[in-house]
This record gives sequence, C-alpha cells and structure tokens, in this order.
Amino acid sequence: LMHLTKKLIEIRSMLLSIDQSDALKLPSIVVIGSQSSGKSSVLEAIVGHEFLPKGDNMVTRRPIELTLIHTPSVGKEIEEYGEFPALGLGKISDFSQIQKTLMDLNLAVPASEAVSNDPIDLRIYSPRVPDLTLIDLPGYIQLASLDQPETLKEKIAALCERYIREPNIILAVCAADVDLANSPALRASRKVDPLGLRTIGVITKMDLVPPDQGASILSGNRYPLHLGYVGVVSKAGKKSKRENTQDIVARGESDFFGAHREHFGASTSVMVGTDTLRKRLMDVLESSMASSLHGITNAVQLELEEAQYQFKVQYNDRRITAESYMAETIDALKARFKEFTTQFRKPQVRAKLKEMLDEKVMDVLEQLYWSDKRASELSTLAADPKVKPEDVEPYWRYKLDAASSLLTKSGVGRDSTLLVADGLRTLIDSIAAGEPFTFHPRTAERLIEFSHMILRDRIGVTSEQVENCIKPYKYEVEVDEREWEVGRTQAVRLFEKEVVMCEDKLKDIRKRVGGSRRLNGLMGYVKELEVKERERKQRRLTAIVEDAESGASVEDEKDDYRFPPAQILDARHAMLYSDRIGILKLRLAALKSKRCRGGPENDLLCPEAFLNVVADKLAYTSAMFINIELLDQFFYQFPREIDSRLLYDLDRREIVEFARENPTVRRHLDLQDRKDKLEEVMKQLNSLATLRPESSQTTPRR
Ligand code: GDP
Repeated sequence: LMHLTKKLIEIRSMLLSIDQSDALKLPSIVVIGSQSSGKSSVLEAIVGHEFLPKGDNMVTRRPIELTLIHTPSVGKEIEEYGEFPALGLGKISDFSQIQKTLMDLNLAVPASEAVSNDPIDLRIYSPRVPDLTLIDLPGYIQLASLDQPETLKEKIAALCERYIREPNIILAVCAADVDLANSPALRASRKVDPLGLRTIGVITKMDLVPPDQGASILSGNRYPLHLGYVGVVSKAGKKSKRENTQDIVARGESDFFGAHREHFGASTSVMVGTDTLRKRLMDVLESSMASSLHGITNAVQLELEEAQYQFKVQYNDRRITAESYMAETIDALKARFKEFTTQFRKPQVRAKLKEMLDEKVMDVLEQLYWSDKRASELSTLAADPKVKPEDVEPYWRYKLDAASSLLTKSGVGRDSTLLVADGLRTLIDSIAAGEPFTFHPRTAERLIEFSHMILRDRIGVTSEQVENCIKPYKYEVEVDEREWEVGRTQAVRLFEKEVVMCEDKLKDIRKRVGGSRRLNGLMGYVKELEVKERERKQRRLTAIVEDAESGASVEDEKDDYRFPPAQILDARHAMLYSDRIGILKLRLAALKSKRCRGGPENDLLCPEAFLNVVADKLAYTSAMFINIELLDQFFYQFPREIDSRLLYDLDRREIVEFARENPTVRRHLDLQDRKDKLEEVMKQLNSLATLRPESSQTTPRR
C-alpha cells in the first residue's frame, strides 16, 4: 500500500496544477496550532532538518504545501534535497538555503496584506522521510499585539478554515503546558470535525508537564479524538551541523519517555514519540487517500468527459501548440507583407515619385515664372506664329536653365528615397497595428523597431546613389519628340487639375463668406486696403525723412475694419486663387497651342512641358535605383529579420508567453492542457485500480 500513497501524492500534485476546486482534491495533512505551540519543531522533527523560517515576527505568512517524497537510499550515501517547483531553482541540498528561501518568500508578502492565500510549493526528497503531504499554515495568534492588527487574527483564522475542510486531515498541535481548553487548533477542528474523525492531536513539550498529567492528556478523556493524541518532545536542543534532527529528537524522546515507562511504556495505551507520529500520519493519510480513491476517480472521470466534450465542440479536437501558433503568425505576417509589397512595384513607385516631382515643378514655375512681371509676354510670343525659336530673347533661356536646375538640384535623391521609405514604414506600421498583433504589443513594437532599423540603414546609401544617378540631368536634359509630347500632355493635365482645385477653393470661400456678391465686395475692399497701405508706407517714409529734420513724431493711422479679419483673410486667399486661375488658363491655352505642340525646340516658350519631361526622367531614374538599393534589399532582409528576431530569438518560455497573449489561443491551450492532464491523471488512477486487486492476489516470488 506504500506505493498507493506515493502515487496518489503525485496525482494530488497534478490535480492541484489543474485547478483548485474542492471537487478534485485528494487529502493532505493540514498542520494548525497557535504560535509557539511547537508546530515548526514537530514538522522539522518529521523531516529531520531545520528548514522553517524562525523569528519573533510572524514568520509564516503564506501556507507551505510541503510534499515529502521518500526516495530509496543508494548504499550508505543519503541524498536529501528540497525543490521549489514554481521557482525553478533546481535541487537545494543545503536546508539552511531552503530556510532562507522560505523566509524571503514570506517576507515578500506586503505588510498591508500580512498573510497571503497563495501557497508555497516545497518538495523534500529523502530516504529518511515518508511519503506525506503536509500543509503548514500561519500560527493562530493568541493575543493581538501592537504590531499585529486585530483583523490579522481573523485573516489567519479564515485561511485555516479554508484548509481544514474535507477531505483534509487536521493535525492539531497543542503544547502540553497549555490547557487544551484554550487550544485554538482544537477549537477550529471541532467546528469542522466535531467527532474528531479526521483530527489527530499532537501534544508537544511533554517534558514541561509532570508525566502523569501528560499521560492523562494523551488518553484523550477530556477532549476525545477518534484518531487519538500523540505526545512528543520535539525540541531539538543543541544544534549540531552533522547530526540529523530526527536522530536528536529520537534520542531525546527515548530518554524522556524511557524514564517514565510507567506512564508512556508499551503496556500503556498512549502514543508517544515523533516516530510514532510519523507512522500514524502515514497510516491515516494512506487510508484517507484510499477511501478518497473511488470518489476522486469518479470526479476526475466527470471532469475529463466535460473537458473532452468541450474540446471536441469548441475546437473539433484540433490540437495546437504555442510553437505552431507562433509559426502560423509569422507565416501570415510574411504573406501579408508580400501581398502589400505589390504597391511597391516599379510603375507604382515611379507614379508616386512623379506626383512628388509634379509638386516641385509647380513650385518652380510659381517661383520663376508666375511671379515674373513679364510672364504674359511668354504667352503672347507663343501665340505669335511669326516668332521663331531662335528669336526668343536669351532672358527666357536663362529662366528655363534656372528652372531646370532648381528642379534637378532640389534634393531629389533624398526626397524620393524618404518618400518610398515612408511608404514602407506606413505599411509595416499598419501591419503591426492589425490583428493578431493587437494581442502582442511587444512583438509589434519589435517588428516596427527592426523594420525601421533596416530602413535607416538603407536610406543614406540609397539617396546618395539616386542623387549620383540623376547628376547628368543637372547639366543637360535631352528631349526627343515623343518625350516632349508626353510631357506636354502631362503638363496640360496637371494644369487642368490645378484649375479645378483652385476653383473648388474659391467656391468654398464664396460659400463661407456668403455668396459671390459679398466676396466681390470683400475683394474690392481688400484691394482698397492694399492701395491705402501702399500709400501710407510711402507717406511714412517721407515723414521719417522729414521728421529727422523737424523732430516731430509719426502718427499711426488706425484701420477701420469694416469686415471681420477672418473674411479679410478669405478675400486675400480668393484673390490669390483667381490670379492663379488666370495664369493657369493663359498657360493652358499656350500649352495647347500649335507652338507648344510643335516639339522640343519650343522649350523656351513652353517651359511647363519641358520641366515635365525633366520630372519624368528624374522619376524614372530614381525609381530604378530606389528599387535596387532600397526595395530589393528591404524585401530580402525583412522576412529574414522576422525569422531571426521574432522566431529564433525566443526560448520555449517566451514562445508560450507570446502565444498566451492571444486570448483565443490561451483558452484553447488551457482547455487542451486541462484535458491532457485529466487524461494522464485518469490513466494513473486506472492503473492504481488494476494494481490493487492484483497485488493482493499475487504471491511473492522468491
Ligand atoms: P511554533 O511557533 O508553533 O512553530 O513553535 P516552535 O516550534 O518554534 O517552538 C516554540 C518554542 O518551543 C521554541 O523555543 C522551541 O524550542 C520550544 N519547543 C518546541 N518543542 C518543544 C518541546 O517538545 N519541549 C520543550 N521544552 N520546548 C519545545
């Protein structure tokens, strides 16, 4: 039957890891007692080592789930060690280290909480311990002292009450020199186990009362317990590093009880000694476990069926692992990325760059042509069929050269590279902001981080390369007939679009100020203001000169604002737009004229067409080199970085953590895990059921 307890203790740990519901609980021994009743000394005598935290200030603040595992001794060597499975510290052979760890774990409970319900899992492996599970609870407080608030007493009592429920066995520790009537442990036990069917009394400090009084307590006449009382003297006395606590206590006890054989000897019916206690605990736990076996098997079977059903219904028995989820996520990420990269094929990139350059062309035109007082001459010349290209003044040659150079030297390399890099960045950012990365904020952050890093690395090289390759255009741009025609029609389209845009803006303003009448009035007023302003400036200038001579000061005239400032501003904008429309229409007429249609030799009179051709060439060349230096590199590197930074960089624990960030996956994994564990437990329970009848039938082989 020894085997049974051991197996069931294993099963008990597994069940605890499945859930904490009472239905799935195998019994354990719960140790309760008031502070200083000798609780720790008893536990240490059973284990054979000092390992529990000591100190004046309430040293046990969390329950300790103490699992003792009997290991076979190998020869004369005795290997004893402890383990904290939750901490992953490995085997700890130095029991003072265990003591220190327990101390730290207890002290980690914040003072405001004082006690915590969260148990510490400690396993001790030794050939000297029996297979037992014991739960050490914070000691009952007798007197509320100054630094222990009254509520703490209640908190401890509540914690103990949770643990002393069925099917657990209660080990009620009472000191012999304290009246049992005052024992909080017995009082608590009586509440949940009035007949004492699952309570064992331990009377400590037997050496502190006269033997006859001690023997009378053990007889249990006053407070009968079905499982009886065991008397112990578990004070370890002088510590000796070499000797096992078990031995010291055993010697002390045999000295003491031996000296009072008439009260405690074999002829009496009382139980004494830590060794007796140990055996008693084993027996009681074993039979309690055995009697729980049937109930627990049924309970596990029910839970298992439910879990299997749910797994079938919810997931159609589809198994997943954290790794498979990770791999799928990464595959999906790469696929989505690939899908999006079609936006970055050469024609698309070229179109984007052209758009940017069109704006530059507009800026250059505005700067060099539209603001030129002679701008209208250009249209007149273009409309005159008698004018030959070579007759055009050199003034317009300088203009066109300046415009072309302004365009080619406007930092096209950098601007076009940044434009494309920005597009890539936006793409990655949008992928990172979508599912499933909403569940994985840290991964999303990493994704963004390393993609930006790749881009940063490439931007410098690429913009230099592009700038280098467009260099020839800074000196000369050759235009053939076909290119000219394309440039001209594009310029027409661009201007028409610009006209529409300006007209839309005008319409908006007209609506805002309240109709075209009102707008015209406003614009007239603004023109007046402008005239006045000019006059005033003139006057002030002369006044300053005169004042310098006469010494008088200049009086500022106040404006009479008949209209709100916002409307004045609108009117100013409206004037700009209508001026712009005027120029654009004039130039559109020129661009559509026979002259401009005539080919590249008319470039001086049709600068818009020429600049468009230049922009086209710049866009084409930039797109080509951005493709080689930035896009190809990025498309190659990005999926590889995904692998190395998201996949290979993580260990098993991090992958599980990652998968569990997604609530759907977490639920799936949890149910699957629960089902697996229940299946395993069920298998173990079944093997016990077949093992028992067999073991009683087989005759020992010799
Ligand atoms: P706990 O607070 O209930 O864990 O009690 P401890 O095990 O720390 O014991 C309290 C005090 O009683 C300590 O000073 C022990 O040395 C002492 N003590 C424990 N068991 C015995 C015993 O059997 N006999 C005597 N004389 N003292 C004991």
